[in-house]
Amino acid sequence: MFDIMIVGAGTAGLSAAIYAARAGKKVLVLEEKTYGGQIINTQEVENYPGIKKISGYEFATNLYEQAAGLGADIRFEQVMKIESIPDQEGKEVKKVVTNQAEYEGKSVILATGAKNRPLGLDGEQRLIGAGISYCATCDGAFFRGRTVAVNGGGNTALEDAVFLAGICQKVYLIHRRNTFRGEEKQVTLLKEKENVEFLLDSQVTALYGEKKLEAIEVANTVDGSSKRIPVDALFVAIGQMPDNERFSGLVDVDEKGYIKAEEDCHTNVAGIYTAGDCRTKKVRQLATAAADGAVAGLAACEYLEEW
Ligand code: NAP
Repeated sequence: MFDIMIVGAGTAGLSAAIYAARAGKKVLVLEEKTYGGQIINTQEVENYPGIKKISGYEFATNLYEQAAGLGADIRFEQVMKIESIPDQEGKEVKKVVTNQAEYEGKSVILATGAKNRPLGLDGEQRLIGAGISYCATCDGAFFRGRTVAVNGGGNTALEDAVFLAGICQKVYLIHRRNTFRGEEKQVTLLKEKENVEFLLDSQVTALYGEKKLEAIEVANTVDGSSKRIPVDALFVAIGQMPDNERFSGLVDVDEKGYIKAEEDCHTNVAGIYTAGDCRTKKVRQLATAAADGAVAGLAACEYLEEW
């Protein structure tokens, strides 16, 4: 019987594990992909308080090693289902079913993060790995010296475009508005680059290519014109969406699918907490994911005192 079972080994989940393990709790962390969550694919982190600059990979690896070193049991399994089942004394034990095993514990922290939002265009799924990518730092090097496009106006798109401009011959930055959601510093940096062309007030409306991406159609939302642009890759960076479908019958979620919780990270179910990008919140940053992990980890410890 674990004290705290954490779903997700991103920044929020591993931060919760660190706090819970340091409090002497028996901690299980279940992760379906690799540790680190979204930050592992970020080239450089420059806004985490107290660390001037660190690669996303190093940050994630430090977190993983810190949690494992403190005794958290981190397993790479996909969580399929979570149930609350009363034990012989009538206490609500949580049962977590993965693709490999079943675990029981006294409390659960859901820290499942978010997944990339697709454009929803014909051929998008088929061309993933053949010119369509959601991760410039993972796949950018395949397109060294080529022509690529980035779609989005947030920090991810801007950082992707900066990174790609350093290795690609030409980068189109396509954004549906003419002002950016991401940091001005990155926009200024991009404007200085000769191989970056901004396509603003623009939407990608079609993908061309059978076996690999060959071109995209870009429509101007102001004048209604559209053009076909040959590209070797399109990096889609139009934000994230939650990955909580599996838990929508377990805890309350909002209309977008985020788990409902305030800053105390409590869900509507006793003994189930949530942390990081998967919960309702305004600011989704590395620092707020780590903060959530600490809050949820300590809240679960407090719950265990009354167990
Ligand atoms: P985001 O900030 O939500 O930005 C998503 C962008 O995609 C927006 O510009 C949005 O346009 C656009 N978009 C959304 N749906 C679209 C659609 N269907 N078609 C076309 N465009 C669409 O997402 P993000 O850039 O992935 O960042 C997520 C969070 O991580 C943010 O809080 C961000 O600050 C943070 N982050 C931080 C850093 C850093 O601090 N170093 C790095 C990366 C990410 P509109 O602007 O018109 O809505």
